[in-house]
Amino acid sequence: MAGSKDFYQTLGVAKNATAEEIKKAYRKLAVQYHPDKNPGNQDAEEKFKEISEAYEVLSDPAKRQRFDQFGPAAFGPGGGARGAGGFGGGFGGIDLEEALRTFMGAMGGGGGGGSIFDDFFGGGQQRRSEASGRGADLRYDLEIEFEEAVFGSQRDITLTLLDACETCKGTGLGEHSRKETCKRCGGRGMVVMSSGFFQVRQTCPDCNGNGQTISQPCSACRGEGRMRKRKSLSLKIPAGVETGSRLRLAGKGEGGARGGEAGDLYVVIHVKEHPFFKRHGDDIIVEMPVPMHIAAMGGSIEVPTIQGYEKLKIPAGTESGTVFRLKHKGVSHVHGGHMGDQHVSIRVEVPERLDRKQKKLLEEYASLCDDRTYVRTRETKRIAEDFYEKQSVIHKA
Ligand SMILES: [Zn+2]
Ligand SMILES: [Zn+2]
Repeated sequence: MAGSKDFYQTLGVAKNATAEEIKKAYRKLAVQYHPDKNPGNQDAEEKFKEISEAYEVLSDPAKRQRFDQFGPAAFGPGGGARGAGGFGGGFGGIDLEEALRTFMGAMGGGGGGGSIFDDFFGGGQQRRSEASGRGADLRYDLEIEFEEAVFGSQRDITLTLLDACETCKGTGLGEHSRKETCKRCGGRGMVVMSSGFFQVRQTCPDCNGNGQTISQPCSACRGEGRMRKRKSLSLKIPAGVETGSRLRLAGKGEGGARGGEAGDLYVVIHVKEHPFFKRHGDDIIVEMPVPMHIAAMGGSIEVPTIQGYEKLKIPAGTESGTVFRLKHKGVSHVHGGHMGDQHVSIRVEVPERLDRKQKKLLEEYASLCDDRTYVRTRETKRIAEDFYEKQSVIHKA
């Protein structure tokens, strides 16, 4: 995935930029493209991954030097970066948790961080190691009802994945097996390969960087430590999620190979549309029909909100398109502590049919109307007449 990327260009810094300049550039971009700020935006997500990847390399003096010397190829597959499939092509060697922490730092929000992942799944205990064998991060797309997104819910999801082998508890070891120091690399986990003029250090192919090999692998999983399984998980969906929200289940992704740690599972939320309530962040927007006599004379209506009916006063002479706000009648913020509003857009309703008496009364009303009753009707007519008059002058000329 590193391809022919120029990490300096990605962060918009010069090749000789200082560590401080790189950090500053990264923070600025991370704030701009953070997934929490761009829910559902694939481009932003991609960009966020790119800048995180670039920062991961350029912020580490050793990696930066390697990049300067060998270019992005040094960080491609097999170049030492953690390969993580599944999640939109993988995060490469990026420590997402770290990226998010850095992001929260940039936002000035201390006090326990606050990425959506940390909050719900007790992140933080999750340590990513460079050691190979870690299972891939997986993505699971989950469609939920509007009501579930607003109030939260509990969902059981089933997925097929490589999971820890039960026979060997994920170690890959057979009953009488022992771990032995890898003969090829002498337990260092790295071997030196020559490639043209260069000598390149690489992960040892015999032990995959573990430094150890297994004398008698588990027969059930052939020493892999994991096998394909169907697995059910119970998922708590917090109130306030919206389309694009991602929930991280630490360690619930693909099982690690030969005792390696499991990857994470990211559940990406898709919320079904509701016929009446529309979400806009934590706010709810509705279009509320109001009978024409109430719009004209004023009165009050009952507006459905997600928390029940709310009385709304309609002033006399309310037009279609007027928006009223019902404070704190929206959705509770996914991190708590804040409540959205409900915006009520008025749509004046004209009866489709009138009975004889209603018609008679409306006729009587119409007979009392003059130029001053319908100001905009009069104004529109004036503009139109002005147009036709000018048109006829031009034609005559
Ligand atoms: Zn096994
Ligand atoms: Zn080895």
